[in-house]
Amino acid sequence: MKKRLLFLGPPGAGKGTQASLICENNSLLHLSTGDLLRSEVSAGTDLGKKAARIMDKGDLVDDALVLSIVEKKLMGVSSGWLLDGFPRNLLQAESLQTLLEKIKQPIEAVVLIEIEDQIIIQRLLSRGRDDDNEDIIRNRLEVYREQTAPLIKYYFEKGLLKSIKGDRDINEVATLVRQALV
Ligand code: AMP
Repeated sequence: MKKRLLFLGPPGAGKGTQASLICENNSLLHLSTGDLLRSEVSAGTDLGKKAARIMDKGDLVDDALVLSIVEKKLMGVSSGWLLDGFPRNLLQAESLQTLLEKIKQPIEAVVLIEIEDQIIIQRLLSRGRDDDNEDIIRNRLEVYREQTAPLIKYYFEKGLLKSIKGDRDINEVATLVRQALV
């Protein structure tokens, strides 16, 4: 199975859930920038305080800040890894490319989980996280469309993209993900 992975898709597509399953079953390092930022927020660090204001609006946290978090985690990792929620824009994707070339660990597959806006909004409203009210959700979707969605073409052109439909139950999606990573 491929073991240097990137998960792409709108908020609420089920990236986090599917990423956790794949990582647990295959001993991959699950690197979710959203989770890492939320732990900085709950620990009340300076970085967390700065990030919280931006996350509360559903905007993207500063690229350099997120990059430094990812870089620290990826350096020295010898087993596989899965990046979930990163990169979120072309600049982050290019910086990741440079970093991975440096450590000689190229991405093996990019899994895109696709899902319609209507289902996303229902799912996120029922999840009840702090940044999950309807206005913030709409902003996160817009940010996704404008800044993150261009990465679909970017990774398609690199021959890495595997698209999966995310509008079905967790186990069915998990099977599709596994099949895409053979
Ligand atoms: P997530 O858990 O992936 O939905 O991320 C929650 C929030 O954390 C996002 O709405 C952003 O504010 C911030 N965030 C997570 N990952 C990144 C990233 N790669 N770049 C910038 N901001 C991020």
